[in-house]
Amino acid sequence: MMDLLRAGLTHKYKVLVTGIRKMHLLKCQAYVDGRWVSASNQSVFAVTNPANDAEITKVPDMEAKDAKDALEAASKAFETWRNTTAKERASILRKWFQLCQENSVNLAEIVTAESGKPLAEAKGEIAYGNSFLEWFADTARHLNGEIIPSPWPNKQVLVTREPVGVVSVITPWNFPFAMITRKVAALMAAGCTCVIKPSEDTPLAALAAAELADQAGVPKGVINVVTTSRKNASAVGKVLCEDDIVSCISFTGSTHVGKILYGMAAKGVKRVSLELGGNAPFIVMPSADLNNALDHAMNAKFRNNGQACIAANRFLIHEEVYNDFVRGFLERINKKCIMGDGTKEGVTCGPLVNDMQAKKVSSMVDDAISKGAKALIGGKFASDIGNKFYESTLLVDVSPDMQVYNEEIFGPVVSCIKITSEEEALKISNSTRSGLASYLFTKDLSQAFRMSQKLKFGMVAINDGILSTSEAPFGGVKESGIGREGGKHGAEEYTDLKYTLISELDK
Ligand code: NAP
Repeated sequence: MMDLLRAGLTHKYKVLVTGIRKMHLLKCQAYVDGRWVSASNQSVFAVTNPANDAEITKVPDMEAKDAKDALEAASKAFETWRNTTAKERASILRKWFQLCQENSVNLAEIVTAESGKPLAEAKGEIAYGNSFLEWFADTARHLNGEIIPSPWPNKQVLVTREPVGVVSVITPWNFPFAMITRKVAALMAAGCTCVIKPSEDTPLAALAAAELADQAGVPKGVINVVTTSRKNASAVGKVLCEDDIVSCISFTGSTHVGKILYGMAAKGVKRVSLELGGNAPFIVMPSADLNNALDHAMNAKFRNNGQACIAANRFLIHEEVYNDFVRGFLERINKKCIMGDGTKEGVTCGPLVNDMQAKKVSSMVDDAISKGAKALIGGKFASDIGNKFYESTLLVDVSPDMQVYNEEIFGPVVSCIKITSEEEALKISNSTRSGLASYLFTKDLSQAFRMSQKLKFGMVAINDGILSTSEAPFGGVKESGIGREGGKHGAEEYTDLKYTLISELDK
């Protein structure tokens, strides 16, 4: 409340009063160098709730100059943060973790308001995001170097890990809190500082996380959040990728934008960590436990209404179990997919995040139907609820000439493809430039090993539909990205190896 009064901006006050009891972590300014600030040109943009298009609040619409100021702050902070002990960094990360845990419900309410995801899922995202704060608080103290036996007498070969420096963190709207903690906790553990640019659709979770980091005692300048509208994203992105202050670009988002940023990073030969789009196969072989496969199919497809990079995208079902699988899927969709405003009890499927996303999903389904696919359920907007609600959809008779066969759908659309052999499943699975997650259901142990070795993906889940955890390295191959997040590898991404030779030990 004091923040609002200090800001002295009446429009912000008016909007916030209605939601203030629920959303006390709601911030309406950006966070740079430990201060809550406006854009240098005083511009703002509205953050809206996709369930009803209501304005939640306005935040600064920052430009390249503001991004540069934030980089300067991160650069200054790096000089002291890099020299803190791992134990000190671990202790601050743990405090941040504890505050995020205590404020889980408030954080979840913000995520639901700006992204539309059901509150239960938003709570799940906060728990998942917090797990990275806890994990990297522990990992900070285990980023060890090496002492390697020297090939020469009287010399010592040392390898140490040093923080890469200032990291630009650019994140998407689909997991607006967890995509930030997964990167920021790791880079802070390594001794780096950062400037975060969240999506236009979801800057509020990032600002709430920054507020709690501030309360946890994260020193000023270690974390900075620059909010910007989509129209300024490329200008801000250019500074965040090309400025000499930046040592590493850590991006999660589409392969299309990832390639643009990779190109800019290449000019300065900068480190990149790219978590890009997926196109996950979900393979069900005849020996699979069908009920288990179906339960996991619901999670793998409908979590966040299909708007997840590891969402199952192509259901490759063996002909022997195809009919039973499709029937079971339809039953579950009918029973479990309940659309509506994410704050309502019992709702499991919220709106799509914005008009662009809604248009893309519906045009992909229309394309499939125009080419001969059949929607056994769904296939249209639920316009009576709102303008971004798309019905949970199941398509059969899907063929290779359709967009849903080849591209990431990123929506609540199941596309079922009948396969006749293990070889065909592998061929279709691997016939894409994406390589993030893959799912395989079989009770045949040899087949599980054989197929998982041949799946060209960064991650393979066998008999499961949820695989991400802070303990394991998350990431893709091919055009799904470079680098890993989570696990000890997640923090190592933000370090450089330094080799030091110490000679003349006999003198
Ligand atoms: P996106 O359009 O690539 O946007 C991601 C972020 O980049 C947003 O903050 C966006 O800002 C920003 N951005 C867009 N153009 C930019 C530019 N020229 N310079 C700098 N920043 C720019 O992706 P999205 O649609 O938000 O997210 C969906 C995609 O993310 C899917 O493909 C999904 O698979 C992928 N994803 C991958 C992972 C993973 O771990 N591999 C996780 C989650 C999502 P605005 O939003 O304001 O435009």
